[in-house]
Order: sequence, then C-alpha cells, then structure tokens
Amino acid sequence: MSNYKMNTKCVQSGYTPGNGEPRQIPIVQSTTFKYDTSEDMGKLFDLEASGYFYTRLQNPTNDYVAAKIADMEGGTAAMLTSSGQAANFFALFNICQCGDHIVASSSIYGGTFNLISVTMAKMGITTTFVSPDCTEEELNAAFQPNTKAVFGETIANPALTVLDIELFAKAAHAHGVPLIIDNTFATPVNCRPFEWGADIVTHSTTKYMDGHGAAVGGAIVDSGRFDWMARADKFPGLCTPDDSYHGITYAEKFGKEGAFITKCTAQLMRDFGSIQSPQNAFLLNLGLESLHVRMQRHCENGLAVATFLQSHPKVAYVNYCDLPGDKYHALAEKYLPGGSCGVVSFGLKGGREAASVFMKALKLAAIETHVADARTCCLNPASSTHRQMNDEQLKEAGVPAELVRISCGLEDKEDLIADLAQALNQIPD
Ligand SMILES: *Cc1c(COP(=O)(O)O)cnc(C)c1O
Repeated sequence: MSNYKMNTKCVQSGYTPGNGEPRQIPIVQSTTFKYDTSEDMGKLFDLEASGYFYTRLQNPTNDYVAAKIADMEGGTAAMLTSSGQAANFFALFNICQCGDHIVASSSIYGGTFNLISVTMAKMGITTTFVSPDCTEEELNAAFQPNTKAVFGETIANPALTVLDIELFAKAAHAHGVPLIIDNTFATPVNCRPFEWGADIVTHSTTKYMDGHGAAVGGAIVDSGRFDWMARADKFPGLCTPDDSYHGITYAEKFGKEGAFITKCTAQLMRDFGSIQSPQNAFLLNLGLESLHVRMQRHCENGLAVATFLQSHPKVAYVNYCDLPGDKYHALAEKYLPGGSCGVVSFGLKGGREAASVFMKALKLAAIETHVADARTCCLNPASSTHRQMNDEQLKEAGVPAELVRISCGLEDKEDLIADLAQALNQIPD
C-alpha cells in the first residue's frame, strides 16, 4: 500500500512505467504468453513463479488496474472480474461450499439477492438474511456452526441503507468468519471498509469506478488481515493442500496477504473463466483516474436534488443519508464523512401510477436499469430490477412499490432540479 493520498492513488497507483515505456497503461491484447522452455512455463502452472500464461487467469493490463484498486482500498491483493455479479459470487464461493451457510444483510442489490438466495442455494449454500438495522443480539443469532461468511453493502443498492460495518465485522469475527463488503456505491473515495474491520471488499466497477456507462466489470480486494490458518477447520479450501496445484496450501504458501486472491484466481478463474477483458480494464482505469473528482460532484448534485425533493408537496419521503433528517445520517457521518454517492430514492404520494407519469415526463433523466454514471438516470425498482420479489419482500428489501431511484449524474444541478420540477408538475393533483 502506498502512502499517497486518495486523489493521487486514483490517478497514479498500480502502474509505474520504466524508462521509455508507455505513460498510459498498455492494453495487452493477447490471450497467451510465450516462454523459452517448458520448465519456465511449468513453474507458472505450479504457482512456483509469478507471471502470465493465459488471459483467462491473468493479464498484465488487468493486474495494473487491480493493483490500483487494492491501493485505493488499502488492501494487499486484488483481482478484476467480468462483472460485479462474478465478483460477489467468487468472493463467497472462494470460501463456501455445499453444506455451508452465509449471513447476509437483507438490504442488498437485487442481483446479489437472487445469486445467494436462489442460485447458490441450488449449490447447497444457504443464507440467513438479517435486517441491516438489526441489533447485535439478532445478528449473532443468525450464525450457525457452518457459517463461513457475512455479507453486506456499505450503501445498499437501491434501498440506500447504510451498514454498520463495525458491528457486522465484530459479529463475523466473533464467529471466526470474514466480513465481505460490497463497496460499489461508496467507492473507496468515500469509504474504505477495511478501516472498519471488513476483510474482503467487492465492487461492481460498472458503476462509479467506470463512471461513464462504458464497461461492465467487477473487482475483489483482500485486506490481507483475516487469519485463515487460525480457523483452518472452517476454511479447508485455503488451509489444506490443493491437489490441482501439486498439493499447495494457499494460506501457508501465500500467507494472509495473498492466499484469498491467489486461490480465487488459480481455482475459480481457471474453472469459471469470468475474466474482465483487458480493453474493459483499460476503460475502467480511465474512470478511476477521475473518480475522486467525479464523486465530489455526484454527491453535490445528490444533496441538491434530495433537498429539493424533500420540500416538494408531491413527494412523500426522500432517502438520502447525507440529509440531516435521514434515518442513516448518523451512520453516514461515521462511515461516509466526505459524502455518500449520487443516488437518491424517494416515494411519490401518488404511488406507482404517479411514479409512472413522473418518469415519462423527465427529459434529462433517462429511464435505465443503471446507476452511477455521468448521465442522470432513474428507475422504479419494483417494476424492473426487483420484479422477482413480492410486495412483502420489496418492503423488507427497502424498495416499496412506489419508490423511484434517481442516480444524479455530473450535469448542472440547476438543470436537473428544473427537469424534476417540470416532471413532478405533470402528476395530477
Ligand atoms: C450493479 C451492482 C452489482 C452487480 O454488478 P454488475 O457489474 O452489474 O454485474 C453488485 N452489487 C451492487 C451494489 C451493484 O450496484
């Protein structure tokens, strides 16, 4: 980890060119890499030497960008994945197998909810969901002897709840398992979960990190602090020999700092092949170079829009943790002192129908199943991303049917507010 400030890390971490080398990260557009002898290559296959042999596992462009993200989060190792979905699946499946159990916040991204509650359940991995607002007692009661991980989102998409990371970390560690935090909405610019006890961080880099709606991607970062060997009984995949790599024991050979990402690359990338393309990694890095500048503007616009909506007669409520009256304001002051993100959600007094009229009338804000890019967009989760949930589940996940989510982009805030005002006027009284 470098000692530079975040603004400098965003621009320069991960890649330092040598004399006469390209200033910008080179896109290594090659599936394979050449070696002089079979012995040289054999060492890579045995994880005896580090290097590249096939882009399904590793590529230099990806590694430069992953190293930057690791530095921004304050971690020891990181890898890029083809999507945020792949990142969360890999982060969990790297330490969970059939018969294991996860404790997860119920307030998480719809895709992740589906991944763990439906698809991973088919693999024999069960999950107990807890409210992000649960007490320490309720949280501790969710653990089972076969629990292997705790999962939550710093700022949940789309419910915008803020997780008490320290509380969740404490419970996870008391039960000998790591806390995995999806830090997509906050980004390391606004929150670094490792500083609050999280062990693994994931990202959908598709969102603010890319920031331009250009490339789908994900990332996994290891804090390097979880002592797998101390709980070897729980994590046989990391703490017993891997027959597919000549009996290497990852936690022994790569230590706390490297075991998680090495195993995830060597086994899961090899077998599932969800690598980010080097082209997308290059685009992601362009986004990272301005992340610190953009997050400030996203937050400024988010607060302006939230403040406007809060005072509007047709708006029933606004969720935005930077608003002083918000339920999560105290947690936001602790975990997100520099601002949260540009995503605001609100309920219209006229319910589902008013939401439909309002969204149709918007001119600048487009209807998209996306958030966190330069252009403002909005969505009614109940009719799109969360449509697999019934009304009860919607409420529990913090996305009631009348909820509209607006992702404030980088436009001028006065233009955004004028657009919202004219669309709100279209809703019949
Ligand atoms: C979008 C999102 C994901 C999924 O990421 P993809 O890149 O779309 O696969 C996961 N978690 C959160 C919080 C997200 O917003």
